[in-house]
Amino acid sequence: MTGVGRPARGRGPRRAVFLDRDGTLLDEGAGVVTVPGAVRLLPGAARAVARLREAGFLVVVVTNQAAVARGLLTEEGLAEIHGRMAREGVKADAVLYCPHLDTAEGGVVPAYARTCECRKPLPGLLRRADEAVGPIDYGVSFMVGDSARDLEAGRAAGVRTVLVLTGKGRQTLAALGAAGTPRRPDHVAADVDEAAAWCVAQEV
Ligand SMILES: [Mg+2]
Ligand SMILES: [Zn+2]
Repeated sequence: MTGVGRPARGRGPRRAVFLDRDGTLLDEGAGVVTVPGAVRLLPGAARAVARLREAGFLVVVVTNQAAVARGLLTEEGLAEIHGRMAREGVKADAVLYCPHLDTAEGGVVPAYARTCECRKPLPGLLRRADEAVGPIDYGVSFMVGDSARDLEAGRAAGVRTVLVLTGKGRQTLAALGAAGTPRRPDHVAADVDEAAAWCVAQEV
């Protein structure tokens, strides 16, 4: 038996899968996505989200968007990009983003140029989901991403972690175990669809 029961909706905490955006759902090979026309889903992204929702998971995209603090993109522009992503098939329960970046790191827009608690590797976005779309049972939830900061954020939030080998994933895998990098993830998957299938197959 590998299946998990579909949790009753609307009653008690639910399982969630947190998905990084760039390099996990979207191809960022052409650079930072600042316009809806640059949205390119990675293979299997739409199927992964559909698979997770069908299995009863909340699906929450959690993404650092320092481009807002850098002045490359407005929050309105970001909403258009996420609308495009949804129309292309990534129909998440929520997309939570960190628009911040400290001035020391290049943040220039006054409203966003600061340190915060939501920029991954901090777990603020994952925790915020509990109020946005929760309640969430973190102990049986997952974080899927291509960067060390995704794995760190997931671990800090108390969820299991999956590294995908799309985006920066191969570099991240090669660096694991070096000083200053997080422990190995709970699972390594070729892409987000394989990651989703693994999450669905885990026992509660
Ligand atoms: Mg990423
Ligand atoms: Zn933030």
